[in-house]
Amino acid sequence: MKIGIDAGGTLIKIVRQYDNYREYETVPTTEIDKVIRWLNNHSCDDISLTGGHAATINQQLNCSAHIFVEFDAAAKGLNILLNEQGHDLDNYIFTNVGTGTSLHFSDGNTQSRVGGIGAGGGMIQGLGYLLSGIKDYEELTDIAQSGNRELIDLKVKHIYKNTEPPIPGDLTAANFGNVLHNIDVAFTASDKLACVIGLVGEVITTMSITVAREHNTEHVAYIGSSFHNNFLLRKVVEDYTILRGFKPYYVEHGAFSGALGSIILQ
Ligand code: ADP
Ligand code: MG
Repeated sequence: MKIGIDAGGTLIKIVRQYDNYREYETVPTTEIDKVIRWLNNHSCDDISLTGGHAATINQQLNCSAHIFVEFDAAAKGLNILLNEQGHDLDNYIFTNVGTGTSLHFSDGNTQSRVGGIGAGGGMIQGLGYLLSGIKDYEELTDIAQSGNRELIDLKVKHIYKNTEPPIPGDLTAANFGNVLHNIDVAFTASDKLACVIGLVGEVITTMSITVAREHNTEHVAYIGSSFHNNFLLRKVVEDYTILRGFKPYYVEHGAFSGALGSIILQ
């Protein structure tokens, strides 16, 4: 059995690769000591590490494991998952929506980093907490799913009230730009959280399609744990990517791309 660990800012992604199958597991980075204790029961030859906390883990192992740059590991793992799931793409952008967001151009073999944004999963959790007081991730994302964005976000059609707008009326003109027009409305936590997710989704999509255009590809793969339990984020990103004329891809276990790739790179 080979073990691949992607120790990120928020979550540690673990892949166990057996001869004919894989197991996927996620542990909060706050429980890193537990993971280190578990790893110390295995041979370092079987352990591949990547992510921001990889060096921290390696220092505390009884032996020295294999360490890889997370961008290369993610590119490798994602390419395997895309192929296994029937997507044979020559080149594509991949956008890793983790605590923060990192964008890459990949030709399947090598990647180059083409951008990064501070809007991502950490923003959903942090700004989400400030607006709702909710710390628990599953609770936060559950509540957000049923939120109504209409009274908080300003759409193009809200500005072009009685005329045909020059761009689709349903596009967001200003995230949170409708709040002062509805000052007497009691916005619910659900509505506010849906708008935070809308904002993050639209920002990462805008950046993704911009770099896709720059690199002459129409394919954008979205990975990262931020899509976990958050169908709303996925829907915002998917719809907006398609609306702008590009092709979005979500692969199953995409959040484990780095952990899987680190095993393959060994
Ligand atoms: P990183 O590699 O930076 O740790 P991930 O790709 O693991 O990033 O994504 C982290 C994000 O995933 C969090 O910011 C949060 O939005 C989301 N997330 C998904 N599941 C959980 C969870 N169980 N606990 C906390 N955050 C979670
Ligand atoms: Mg990460």
